[in-house]
Amino acid sequence: MKSNAQVEVTTNQRKTGINWLNVIFISLFHVGAVAALFFWSWQAIVAAVLLYWVAGSLGIGMGFHRLLTHRGYKVPKVVEYFLTICGMLTLEGGSVNWVVTHRIHHAHTDREGDPHSPRDGRWWSHIGWILKGTAQQHDKAVLSRYAPDLMKDRFHVWLNRLYFMPLIITGLALLYFGGWGMMMWGIFLRVTIGLHTTWLVNSATHLWGKQRFHTGEDSRNSWWVALLTFGEGWHNNHHAHPTSARHGLAWYEIDFNWWGIRLLQLFRLAKAIKRVRLDGVSTALQHDSVDMGSKEAYERA
Ligand SMILES: [Zn+2]
Ligand SMILES: [Zn+2]
Repeated sequence: MKSNAQVEVTTNQRKTGINWLNVIFISLFHVGAVAALFFWSWQAIVAAVLLYWVAGSLGIGMGFHRLLTHRGYKVPKVVEYFLTICGMLTLEGGSVNWVVTHRIHHAHTDREGDPHSPRDGRWWSHIGWILKGTAQQHDKAVLSRYAPDLMKDRFHVWLNRLYFMPLIITGLALLYFGGWGMMMWGIFLRVTIGLHTTWLVNSATHLWGKQRFHTGEDSRNSWWVALLTFGEGWHNNHHAHPTSARHGLAWYEIDFNWWGIRLLQLFRLAKAIKRVRLDGVSTALQHDSVDMGSKEAYERA
């Protein structure tokens, strides 16, 4: 077992050195995305839009982020695994690695140790941290420290290792049933756009937009990033209240991921939903720690 001090050193990821595996795959997907434009059809566009929603909303927003990382609500295990597999269609790495990277971001937001702060450069916060260094790779001590809940679950650990499989299977199925155009749109173009919109949450929403809460870092609320990411752009609300399953707090702050969670609740699949309401909270410093449970500002939805 490593001491906390040793683990702390490991979380200060190496920021130099080209990560060739990521460079090759990201380049391949960008070339594939441009090539897809020459194979378009209405069916291909529908497949891409549908997968964009399954992977981005069910997978990343509702799954990796609000459920696995912040435990903003509870679902039966089988639903949790399903949402996790949806998130793997984004090629954003294994779910446990994703969760750990994101919990580190919350623990060190815009300070030393933040894997992707624009204070280290705009380009760095968007894509640089993926192409250089080791910010997404964590050794076992770091994984166990930041995600003990997931590391205890053998199926999650197994999924984390085989994170690329759902995407390969989906790609082969699209190719078989829909042909080249549908595969190019549903995989290469859709994944590439999804990567950039997710990265905008790390770059744009720590640069541009309003700060409703004085969180002491640079997180902002961005309506256009929210539209592209099914609600993840209400990022200042989220940093102020990380465990709230609802990010868009005002009626005009459209938050599709929240509607998705409400839909799960309607089918009695989501319970113990944490949410914060604008009228019971002060906009003064509101900074919850990563693992905190509910506090007075929260109530069960
Ligand atoms: Zn952030
Ligand atoms: Zn978060």
